[in-house]
Amino acid sequence: MAGPAPQGLHHVTAIAGDPQSNVDFYTRVLGLRLVKRTVNFDAPDTYHLYYGDAEGTPSSLLTFFPWRGVPAGRQGSGLTTATAFGVPPESLGWWQRRLAELGVDHDDPRTRDGEEVLTLRDPDGLVIDLVAAPGDTRSGWDGAAHVPAEHAVRGLHAVTVSESVPERTVELFTGLLGMTPAGEDGGRARFAMGGGGTGAVVDVAADRRAAGLQAGGTVHHIAFRVPDRAAQEVWRAELVEAGLHVTEILDRQYFTSIYFREPGGVLLEIATDEPGFAVDEPLLELGRALKLPPWLEPSRAEIEASLPTLRVDA
Ligand code: ZN
Repeated sequence: MAGPAPQGLHHVTAIAGDPQSNVDFYTRVLGLRLVKRTVNFDAPDTYHLYYGDAEGTPSSLLTFFPWRGVPAGRQGSGLTTATAFGVPPESLGWWQRRLAELGVDHDDPRTRDGEEVLTLRDPDGLVIDLVAAPGDTRSGWDGAAHVPAEHAVRGLHAVTVSESVPERTVELFTGLLGMTPAGEDGGRARFAMGGGGTGAVVDVAADRRAAGLQAGGTVHHIAFRVPDRAAQEVWRAELVEAGLHVTEILDRQYFTSIYFREPGGVLLEIATDEPGFAVDEPLLELGRALKLPPWLEPSRAEIEASLPTLRVDA
């Protein structure tokens, strides 16, 4: 029985090294908003930093666990090997000049799957694609200090999942997860959630390389969105019935989550749109203070002492 289909991407979470370099890159270079400064709920002596649009809208979010001194990961099969953001089509040239001026590691724009793609790598080597996305009506974050609103990154566009045996992953995506095929181009196939389009597609790439190593500069997991907890409960029941190992519903403060692995090993999450990032601080103040969930608040002094100082000016 088919349940409610996923609505699109909710967020992508990756592993970084130095938290200050991470904040500087995503707020100053890419012009995203730091929408939450909290800790990894499963390892509270490290930050969990969330970047997105003005309100931290689901499908605008890229988040990081920064571990200073983390060893570098290695790209390969069984990993999410690229995270794509949409930008206005006429802004790609502006971004290319900006990256060159700032000395950011990037490639020349190219056409892939009928899209113009500008690939860059963040300070830890994480692969980010900026994709010219016509018709993207999202506004992104218009308050960035160094990126004019007209060129602002609009939000997540797609992710690339690399697989040594893509068929197994495709079977899960098009079967249980209800995605629909949306094009194919030389070893890459695109799958759409809901109505598809920007923020609601996943690319599965055939990858003959050895298994990748998940560490610094690689994606930890990708999350798909459902509106609320009721939809999430239906999902969880269906995944369990299909024989997948699924976690309990976990309270992530800004959404609730379940996690499971696809057959190639990529960790997937299903996260709710509710309640969002304004649940514990006003929208105008997002990201300025360290926020902790109620169950960690008693340990605040100890947690703060274990975290490096962060300067955020954008
Ligand atoms: Zn997550």
